[in-house]
Amino acid sequence: GGGGSDKIDYVFKVVLIGDSAVGKSQILARFARDEFSLDSKATIGVEFQTRTLVIQHKSVKAQIWDTAGQERYRAVTSAYYRGAVGALLVYDVTKRQSFDHIPRWLEELRSHADRNIVIMLVGNKTDLEDQRAVTMEDAREFAQKENLFFLETSALEATNVENAFQTVLTEIFNIVN
Ligand code: GDP
Ligand code: MG
Repeated sequence: GGGGSDKIDYVFKVVLIGDSAVGKSQILARFARDEFSLDSKATIGVEFQTRTLVIQHKSVKAQIWDTAGQERYRAVTSAYYRGAVGALLVYDVTKRQSFDHIPRWLEELRSHADRNIVIMLVGNKTDLEDQRAVTMEDAREFAQKENLFFLETSALEATNVENAFQTVLTEIFNIVN
């Protein structure tokens, strides 16, 4: 558009990590395009999607990277983490194992990424409350211990997805300003 409104003040790379099928690609689809699919196939092709938001009168382009089905242990390459200033560390509130793997993902993230990376622990699929296998208290306790932000989301119901990205991007913004 005109009016000089396409000026980008910042580009922030944010990575999505966590076990396969926890909902990373749908969280990204919800944030980038406000879409959701219940039969999403394993991620193929596209490396990242972008969305530009305004934070404190500055134009911030969020470049959100999604794993291309590389969620097996140690299969995510260091190029994926390179330059990342934020991360969403995602588990599925109905899959205990996906939460039990979070320390492993965190260790990998911290060994590859920038020291100041902003990390949000995300418990996804809260719409499946009757199948819940991870309590909010357990997750919150872990997040506090590890100094992570924490939110529960539903990509399906669009609950807290916006909030999760906004929180991470605003925190990054505050660090660089
Ligand atoms: P990824 O492997 O981590 O990228 O997971 P996907 O985004 O492909 O999602 C895996 C499956 O979980 C798909 O069938 C999605 O439709 C489903 N899914 C993702 N987010 C949610 C959610 O918030 N609620 C429910 N009920 N299903 C979800
Ligand atoms: Mg995926």
